[in-house]
Amino acid sequence: MTDERCPGCDGELRMLGFLLCLRAEDQKRVCRTPAWCPRCDRAWFRWADRPDDALEEDTAVPPGFYRRMARR
Ligand SMILES: [Zn+2]
Repeated sequence: MTDERCPGCDGELRMLGFLLCLRAEDQKRVCRTPAWCPRCDRAWFRWADRPDDALEEDTAVPPGFYRRMARR
């Protein structure tokens, strides 16, 4: 997954590993693969068990969260 593009601005996304979350729609614990766009500072994610899905915007993340994570 090297050339994921930001659905918002077409910038290059940084994939930030995996994050285990409780998925509300089916009450399952599933990993998300968070992606962050340094160009427009928006966060996106996809469920790890649905690799063919389009990226969804992650609106629950506090501002700057992924910026800090990407710096490490
Ligand atoms: Zn972007």
